[in-house]
Amino acid sequence: MRIKEVTHYIISHKLDESFYFSQWHYDRRTICLVKVTTDEGLYGWGEGYGPAGIIKAGIDFFAPLLIGKDPLQQENIWRLMHLRSLDFARRGVMLSALSALDIALWDLKGKILKQPVSVLLGGRKREKVKAYATGLYFRESENLAQELAEEALFYKNAGFEAVKMKVGLNIRADIENVKAVREILGPDIELMVDANHAYSLREAIQLANAIEPYNISWFEEPISPEEYDNYRELRLRTKIPIAGGECEYLRFGFQNLFINRCVDIAQPDVCATGGITEFKKIMSSAQTFGVDVVPHSWGTGIALSAALHLISNWDTIPGRLYEPEPLIEFDRTENPLRDDLIKPRFSLENGRLDVPTTPGLGIDVDMNLLSKYVSK
Ligand SMILES: [Mg+2]
Repeated sequence: MRIKEVTHYIISHKLDESFYFSQWHYDRRTICLVKVTTDEGLYGWGEGYGPAGIIKAGIDFFAPLLIGKDPLQQENIWRLMHLRSLDFARRGVMLSALSALDIALWDLKGKILKQPVSVLLGGRKREKVKAYATGLYFRESENLAQELAEEALFYKNAGFEAVKMKVGLNIRADIENVKAVREILGPDIELMVDANHAYSLREAIQLANAIEPYNISWFEEPISPEEYDNYRELRLRTKIPIAGGECEYLRFGFQNLFINRCVDIAQPDVCATGGITEFKKIMSSAQTFGVDVVPHSWGTGIALSAALHLISNWDTIPGRLYEPEPLIEFDRTENPLRDDLIKPRFSLENGRLDVPTTPGLGIDVDMNLLSKYVSK
């Protein structure tokens, strides 16, 4: 069986209600998907994270390397793509294109071998993964703290046992918002905060110290991803665990985070960091440093499924009779590209998501709906 065709799709949806975080406003979601098809008609789906038009160009660059290859040899294809782009794309969005293709090859491999990706990775260590709600973005409001508290309550009532909110507006507003959300959630729901690298080290220490009483499970991207030394210092100056890594690429990028003792929780995005092939290696590397892995996930059900299979395969650290439960990010902002386009639809049950059991990623794309969302 040989790879015959690589097809990309840029899909887009204008949001009913725009929202923002510490860096920019969102009023549209745009995502690049890729479909890899064999000469026998089997296909796999992949997805890249980042600017869709550039990912599409990256896929055009890599596609000729795939045509005619055996899709089961996905690690060989990964290496070929990596070596062909290494000189000018050690980091960044070209790796999202590589990731999208790698995910599609794993989906295809699973379909050829009639096994879910998690089995191909070495085994399913859990059938369900505890999901945390990503939401609580900023919006134009007279009383943002109150509105965020109401949104947080909605997630709690939906069954989530963990919720992540944005910080990075300014320290005073952040403290007010965190206080309002923690008060409405009560003590039993995990609460995380994410600054999307909005702060200096000094500001991050100030905010961390101020919100420590609200029992924060992690402080995500407090400072610029380039500031490895400052990450290490921040970790020593707050009791709140530090998370980061959605801007890191490949095992080599994560090595910088690990060697410098920057994070308690690493957050690679399978659609950017090098696909499933590389994510598995990053998980192994994290384990050698005693760092937890909670995938960053901001896309369709393809991205979510790939992350679920990986976390199904994750060995929790430390191992023990009653093991700590790993987490998966479940974006709850408006996105029909995630909710409607991919079948079956992921839904929360008792605060957890099922790891798909059917071959490959265990999902498919509704081709009728796809044409509705393909950007013209
Ligand atoms: Mg984040």
